[in-house]
Amino acid sequence: MDTPTFGNRFATDLPEMAVPWQGADFPDPTMLVLDEQLATELGFAPDWLRGPEGVRLLVGAEWPTGATPVAQAYAGHQFGGYSPRLGDGRALLIGELTVAGGGLRDLHLKGSGRTPFARAGDGLAAVGPMLREYVVSRAMHALGIPTTRSLAVVSTGRKVRREENLPGAVLARVAASHLRVGSFQYARATGDAGLLKRLADHAIDRHHPQARDAERPYLALFEAVVAVQAGLIAQWMHAGFIHGVMNTDNMTISGETIDYGPCAFLDVFDPATVYSSIDSGGRYAYGNQPPVAHWNLARLAESLLPLFDDDQDKAIALATDALGGFGAHYDTAWIAGMRAKLGLTNAVPDEDVRSLGEDLLVHLRDNRLDYTSTFRDLDAAISDAAWLARWHALDPDRSAAQRRNPIYIPRNHLVEEALTAATGGDLEPLRELISAIDAPFDERPGLERYAEPAPDGFGACYQTFCGT
Ligand code: AMP
Ligand code: MG
Repeated sequence: MDTPTFGNRFATDLPEMAVPWQGADFPDPTMLVLDEQLATELGFAPDWLRGPEGVRLLVGAEWPTGATPVAQAYAGHQFGGYSPRLGDGRALLIGELTVAGGGLRDLHLKGSGRTPFARAGDGLAAVGPMLREYVVSRAMHALGIPTTRSLAVVSTGRKVRREENLPGAVLARVAASHLRVGSFQYARATGDAGLLKRLADHAIDRHHPQARDAERPYLALFEAVVAVQAGLIAQWMHAGFIHGVMNTDNMTISGETIDYGPCAFLDVFDPATVYSSIDSGGRYAYGNQPPVAHWNLARLAESLLPLFDDDQDKAIALATDALGGFGAHYDTAWIAGMRAKLGLTNAVPDEDVRSLGEDLLVHLRDNRLDYTSTFRDLDAAISDAAWLARWHALDPDRSAAQRRNPIYIPRNHLVEEALTAATGGDLEPLRELISAIDAPFDERPGLERYAEPAPDGFGACYQTFCGT
């Protein structure tokens, strides 16, 4: 079969931010996991992708004529410190595919070898972290949360040197785009006003076309990013998701979750939870995610400032006002999500939903309750009779709530178990975990262990490592 036709819109619109490059040559690329439904959506025959040509495409060793693989340049604040030149150190954008409805999707490889942005890195990725991104992004998609998706993980046959030698892999990632807050920081820092404007136009076309017709299109672009990110973070909070490394280069313009490194789902509910071993200060703790998103968006506003107005004071006033919208967008999304999780109808006033939700979360924290399973059956899990009476008085629809409260999430102990087995060559636990998380709201016999909270003591010492 032929591959679908790749576009190179990013490379042609923004050549200053696109370095033509190619993947490393790997000795023995072998398919580990493939999302067949996603493959089909993109126009690939899954059997072709599993074959020798498909697998070579998925590690970046070969690409279809017409495609121009590039490493993308971007900057970013990492844990608050600014790096003017990050970029794809171990990744390649193969190109864009057009999906039904006309939208574009980036096909991007991670772990495909060193690029001019690699600095001290080896350009490679290990099987475990790439499968972690595969599983968690697939779970997020099944939960209905905007996310980049994982098409495949292919093992390379080459060892990767970390604390020990590990089997290497390449992840094929699919995204509405890979434009990040850090992309705008990079363009702004070049001092090239034309580049910044071209980047903003490209972002408007791809993600927020309604902004084109606004009185101030670039301000409308910023407002749209504020809105989608506020909605996204509210969804993370309701799912108990901790991203773990919310640097500005890991925050999209599209509103999709990106870059699954040291991410994890909460077990016991505690806003102070940090799983990432590199986040010693707790900057990206669960409860800090909304203010961190706001901080990142302020960096985006600074980057866009010259496009808002020629008068800098006026531009700052407009930016400040638009950034101020984050709180209201977040609140609206949070209340809508909590209303659904509690099975309450629209007749219940927002303020009642808010106070009921907030009081419930205090109860969860004080009693160290498991976040996911508690929401699945509040009547059984909550010991506070007064809270239950308030909830019952609002006539909750428990079956509606169950369609919004997952029973199966990629719990940390299950993910670790599956990744350890897969790194050793046994993919069966991973396949079972995927079948559970693919239908997160549908309780099925035989999957009981996927619904159970972490074993005692697991959460206390659990740590995730950055996606090295
Ligand atoms: P991340 O923390 O995955 O978002 O990556 C931050 C930056 O480090 C990006 O510029 C990556 O391309 C780069 N990077 C991470 N790991 C490697 C690696 N093994 N080799 C080269 N660059 C890397
Ligand atoms: Mg990143």
